[in-house]
Amino acid sequence: MSLESSKTLAGIGAILVAIPFLNLIGIILVLIAMNGLAEYYHEDGIFRNALYGFIFGIIGAVALIVVIVMLIVGVAFVSPVAAPFIGVGLFIVSLIVLYIFSLLGAIFYRNSLSILSQKSGEGMFETAGLILLIGAIIPIIGEVLKFIAWILAAVGFFSIKTPTTQVSVVAPSPPPRPPSAPTMPVSEEKKYCQYCGTENKVEAIFCQKCGKQIGEKET
Ligand SMILES: [Zn+2]
Repeated sequence: MSLESSKTLAGIGAILVAIPFLNLIGIILVLIAMNGLAEYYHEDGIFRNALYGFIFGIIGAVALIVVIVMLIVGVAFVSPVAAPFIGVGLFIVSLIVLYIFSLLGAIFYRNSLSILSQKSGEGMFETAGLILLIGAIIPIIGEVLKFIAWILAAVGFFSIKTPTTQVSVVAPSPPPRPPSAPTMPVSEEKKYCQYCGTENKVEAIFCQKCGKQIGEKET
């Protein structure tokens, strides 16, 4: 899947997650897109964490359904006196189960978004992940934060920079460095003073020992 289609799919998915009753379709789209993004960025954690988040969300939802079924069936078979107590008990249990699993799910979604933020350089994912987590911690009011988080994530997905030109993965090798030339031309040649015989540099004008003129004087 190309980056372009992954980010579009993820963006649409994230918007759908924010919409009640469409959130399951949305989260599946996000999951598929996260797989594409994980491949693009060569970072498995983007998909893996999103998948764990999804699994916890599903477990939470299934657990809630099971508790509701137990509630309906159970209340029908117990004495009318005990029914309200069992009903309230199961209702509280179902809320706790839902809370724990949605919190676990949010932790993993946040991890996925954090990694994606680092890989894509899109800071919006970090913000979205944090708001999502806070939303999962705070009951009831947190739902509003979760909604905002998914909208921010959608903005992030659509904002991922797509390279306009195909950037070559292998950078061209730099041209071979020329052999290092000395900054000062140091002459290896020597000349000898005709007065004292001392070895002097070829460009020397005066002998370094006796000080007599041995070279041509610059005018
Ligand atoms: Zn000399």
